[in-house]
Amino acid sequence: MKIEPADRPAKYPSLTINLPHLRNNVRVIRELCESRGIHITAVTKVFEGDPRIAQVLVEEGLTTLGDSRVDNLEFMKDVQAKDKWLIRPPMLSEIPRLVKYGTASLNSELAVIEAINEECGKQGKRHKIILMADLGDIREGFVDYDEMIEVAKKVAAMPNVDLYGIGVNLTCFSFVQYDTEKLTELVQLKKRVEEATGVKLQVVSGGNSATLDLMLRGGIPEGVNNLRLGESVLIGKERTHYSYLPGTYRDVFILHAEIVELKEKPSLPWGNIGVNSYGVTPTFVDRGPKRLKAICALGRQDFDPDITVPCDPGVILLGASSDHLMLDVTDAEKTYKVGDCIDLELGYFSMLRAFTSSYVRKEYLVEE
Ligand SMILES: *Cc1c(COP(=O)(O)O)cnc(C)c1O
Repeated sequence: MKIEPADRPAKYPSLTINLPHLRNNVRVIRELCESRGIHITAVTKVFEGDPRIAQVLVEEGLTTLGDSRVDNLEFMKDVQAKDKWLIRPPMLSEIPRLVKYGTASLNSELAVIEAINEECGKQGKRHKIILMADLGDIREGFVDYDEMIEVAKKVAAMPNVDLYGIGVNLTCFSFVQYDTEKLTELVQLKKRVEEATGVKLQVVSGGNSATLDLMLRGGIPEGVNNLRLGESVLIGKERTHYSYLPGTYRDVFILHAEIVELKEKPSLPWGNIGVNSYGVTPTFVDRGPKRLKAICALGRQDFDPDITVPCDPGVILLGASSDHLMLDVTDAEKTYKVGDCIDLELGYFSMLRAFTSSYVRKEYLVEE
């Protein structure tokens, strides 16, 4: 197995990105979706738009990429994708760069779309507009669907942008779940937009990795033809039950943290306990007076301890401060010593932090 390290000063913490296993996961999810008539927009925001990783997605046939930040779209400017969507409503202040680096965006504000249209005129480019409907999560999108129709009519009349589709996003703020009724509402909205504008919409984008479970149960109605998938494509996990999809690898991204202290210590602290930096009094589990405790050089700015699991099933993650990760390794399968690494499997926000922390060195496994 060949490892190519990226250029970071410290050896650890490091994040290993297993590109062959990623390739496998993409193939599995792509087959699941395409056999059900669903086209994937591969979401790249969790890995900061790293072009090495985006390239693998494109090579595996995911030629539409989506990211929530224009910076990341710029980072991927040399990746030859057919389409690059901005999947967060664009900032008015970033329209020139959006038009330069993106081909489409999810929108809910007329003023922003007008600015995109105008900028396209200046740059001699076209841009695809996808209008978002809020179907209950109270995040982005029109809640007044008549307003949405009126905006669609105006977009259809603009010379430099194309009214391309509509979409919905759920389960990200209020954790409202996807169901057949919600997505049927989306398909009906699509028909209303088409009737009002005379434009045939190319895309009905029915959600994110939390829609996969509904899809596998056959609950996505006819007419929804796109999903924007990040987590599931990357780590093979759907987001309804947070279960791993059959045939996927869960070790695409593994974080390695070096042990800097290893000592027998009690499981309970001693002294008067105050509140932590979130204003909460911490609680502790009594596992006995003598436990083998490890401290790793890794902190909250590099990962999220609440959604991180040690790969060694005998290791207990106790918590972390900004620069110390505390673990109980008494019942570990492996025998550790100072200088060894503890391997960690990362949940979504943990992965996001590991990628954006400039202290974490990235290594790419490129061959089996
Ligand atoms: C982040 C995001 C996605 C991807 O979410 P996953 O759960 O990782 O699939 C899709 N759509 C929008 C609008 C997003 O912000």
